Amino acid sequence: MIVLKFGGSSVQNSEWIDKALDITAAQLNKAPVLVSSAMGKTTDLILEMMKLAEIGDMNNCLPLMDELKNKHMQTAYAFLSGEVLERAEVRLNELLSQFISLLKGLSLLKECSPRSKDALLSFGERLSTSLISYRAEERGMDVEFLDARTFMISDENFTSAALLLELSEKKIKEIVKPVAGKLIVTQGFISSTESGVTTTLGRGGSDYSASIIGAALNAEEVQIWTDVNGIMTSDPRKVTGVRSISSITYNEAGELAYFGAKVVHPATIQPAVRKNIPVLVKNTRDPAHAGTCIEAKLSGIGLKAITSKKDITLINISSSKMLNAYGFLSKIFNIFEKHQTSVDLISTSEVSVSITIENTDSLEAIKEEMSVFANVCVEKNSSIISLVGQDLWKDSHFTSRVFSVLQDTPVRMISLGSSDINLSLVVPMEKQDETVQKLHDEFLKEA
Ligand code: ADP
Ligand code: ASP
Ligand code: MG
Repeated sequence: MIVLKFGGSSVQNSEWIDKALDITAAQLNKAPVLVSSAMGKTTDLILEMMKLAEIGDMNNCLPLMDELKNKHMQTAYAFLSGEVLERAEVRLNELLSQFISLLKGLSLLKECSPRSKDALLSFGERLSTSLISYRAEERGMDVEFLDARTFMISDENFTSAALLLELSEKKIKEIVKPVAGKLIVTQGFISSTESGVTTTLGRGGSDYSASIIGAALNAEEVQIWTDVNGIMTSDPRKVTGVRSISSITYNEAGELAYFGAKVVHPATIQPAVRKNIPVLVKNTRDPAHAGTCIEAKLSGIGLKAITSKKDITLINISSSKMLNAYGFLSKIFNIFEKHQTSVDLISTSEVSVSITIENTDSLEAIKEEMSVFANVCVEKNSSIISLVGQDLWKDSHFTSRVFSVLQDTPVRMISLGSSDINLSLVVPMEKQDETVQKLHDEFLKEA
């Protein structure tokens, strides 16, 4: 079997949904499971409505509710007809009126807990996959629609739930039964707790859903269909002269995803590695383009791509007590652990430690606890720039070339990962884009 995941822009309207179904129909003999995101921008639209509901502002919510309704209804009218359209209208109206009642209820209460957020967010994927499934039926395909919440089982960490892997795998095997010639359609991003309460896996989580389903069913491959020609040498929206990468290892792709390449969700890689399943990243606009294959096989050493991540906080911790003392680092990490704050980069010297974090919810508490035994200095508005590729250090000129490019850039921290595939630099946020462009021009520009 194979899994095909279509992102929001790949299902943004009736034409695009048809393109996605063309791509799927051509592979019907491979027993496909189609995993879809919400239609382009729907999740953002729902988030906007939730913000208004939270302050009881239903007036400003109404036009957004109309937008949500029109987008889905117009798509249905554009490509459905007869009895299929009648059933689709009933289903879409049912979902939309549930959504509106829920939103109105929350606006009366002026609250939107993470649990309520997930209930509302789930409608995006439930609406898009209903449309896809009715359209597949209209096109004469043998289609089975499955609600992902029956087999993707998570903990109760609403808005970024963690899947209960063994249980989900067992349920996937029980419920999702791919057969050659039949299309299974289901949602990415959404899941449910063991007691049946709706949860979501975090923004961009549909990629992860696809690889979890693929791993559970020992897929031949997982295809991530998006709006660019696979993983590129840098973000095509920000950097000029980027190229598509034809093959990349799981480790390299994982590192790129974690350090800012939004094209695949960072969690996507792990389930695929576990079962050694190739993950193809392809362009729905240009299916003939080979895209990128993420696999175990090494495809050459040296720099592959440059990513960046903004809104990073750099924490410099220094203490003379660190000199020749043991236990200092463990004291520091215990504090991060206690406050459930994950650390991205770390670099140490004899008397100081520099650390970067993304989540600053507990920053004040962390600072306070550390101040008891060290001087703590926080720099906000930083960015991480990551240069990723196998065995970067084997090229003896690599670092010197990096630093020649960075002559005018104040580099606040450097970390060459122990994995040898990531050289990360912390720079002020206002220097992020120009630095990435300069580094890309130096190393990866098209010949
Ligand atoms: P989808 O809706 O298909 O999940 P996303 O918007 O989540 O799509 O991811 C695709 C986008 O990721 C691209 O349009 C591109 O702007 C961005 N992106 C960032 N870094 C990279 C990269 N290195 N290669 C390709 N795309 C990237
Ligand atoms: N619809 C969700 C989002 O926009 C999940 C996804 O697209 O992967 O984040
Ligand atoms: Mg995405």
